[in-house]
Amino acid sequence: MTRPDSARPILPGSTIGVLGSGQLGRMFAIAARRMGYRVHTFSPDEDTPTGQVADLEVNASYSDLDAVTRFARGVSVVTFEFENVPAETAAAASEGAPVRPSGQVLHTTQHRLREKTFLSRAGFPVATFRRVGSREELPQAASETGLPAILKSAGFGYDGKGQYRIYSAQDFDAAWQAVGAQEAVLEAFVEFEREISVVAARSIRGDFAHYGAIENRHENGILDISIAPAAIGKDVLDNAVEIARSVLEKLEVVGVLCVEFFLRPNGQLLINELAPRPHNSGHLTFDANVTSQFEQQLRAVCGLPLGSVAQLTPAAMANLLGDVWERGEPDWAAAAAIPNVKLHLYGKQSARPGRKMGHLTALAHNVAEALSDVQRARGALARK
Ligand code: AMP
Repeated sequence: MTRPDSARPILPGSTIGVLGSGQLGRMFAIAARRMGYRVHTFSPDEDTPTGQVADLEVNASYSDLDAVTRFARGVSVVTFEFENVPAETAAAASEGAPVRPSGQVLHTTQHRLREKTFLSRAGFPVATFRRVGSREELPQAASETGLPAILKSAGFGYDGKGQYRIYSAQDFDAAWQAVGAQEAVLEAFVEFEREISVVAARSIRGDFAHYGAIENRHENGILDISIAPAAIGKDVLDNAVEIARSVLEKLEVVGVLCVEFFLRPNGQLLINELAPRPHNSGHLTFDANVTSQFEQQLRAVCGLPLGSVAQLTPAAMANLLGDVWERGEPDWAAAAAIPNVKLHLYGKQSARPGRKMGHLTALAHNVAEALSDVQRARGALARK
């Protein structure tokens, strides 16, 4: 396959390669197939959320670099839905096709310490943090961040995994074990008023588009509910969007990137973390916006103009974790009885507690109604 010229768009009918095979890839594949693209997915797993929708599911290890390059030779562009793809894998893919966003973006954002170091050196607001290389370094780091603080593994962490809250010196041992006794970041605990995210996209030409601010509520470190638009003032919104724009520019992102923020009671924003891909908080764009975050990712990586981000109606999203299956198959008909609620299921076979199995999105005249409808629908699913 000839390598596409970066100035020339990759048009419908072409094949897009996705590294990773979870729900983000699935929704990306749905958007891509709707526009007439073919999708190939690569991951170690079989019968995956993405594979069920893709034209081709390739099963191989991310460390099988020959298989990765072969996969990339069969597509016009490679993107990813899973940011913990090793840097060598992204490099092997780039021998076969352009990788968007670049392996460099992955490299920076897949490692907490690298990401925070990049952000603070570039002047972006982040909570005070210190690198912790060993258990012995914890007391000094804690004296610099202050307590309470959160110890987080430096690499490969998501959804609050590999994290431990430290309230006093008595927690040091347990915290160090909880992050796997390996390189970690100690971060000052932030008292926040709310958490928001800005999902944004940047095209090959450098055009920028964003979905405004989405409010996020977490349970046990996992996203539970997202609401859009977030109830924040214009100054905070403008500030969040400007920070996001600047992050995408500095990283030269081609694709979608989400900036997660803490909003402090004094109106100050701190970046919590970056996700170099469509994000759980942006799932509601699938139903509520003219162009979803997934189609936007497709447009960006294919070199097409970005689509309209206009929000058609206020919306709220509720995640469906495996816990919803605790008393058997959820009552889908009961949720479907609320007509302004959309059900998304990811095709995962086993429902383990904490595992993201699907989500619901409610569309309504205002966010309060959307929130109440999505919570009612989720409540109706659980078997009594
Ligand atoms: P993370 O996986 O780092 O995004 O953390 C998951 C969730 O834990 C965040 O969305 C927050 O709700 C909470 N959290 C993480 N870091 C902090 C912090 N430094 N201060 C307060 N809450 C935090």
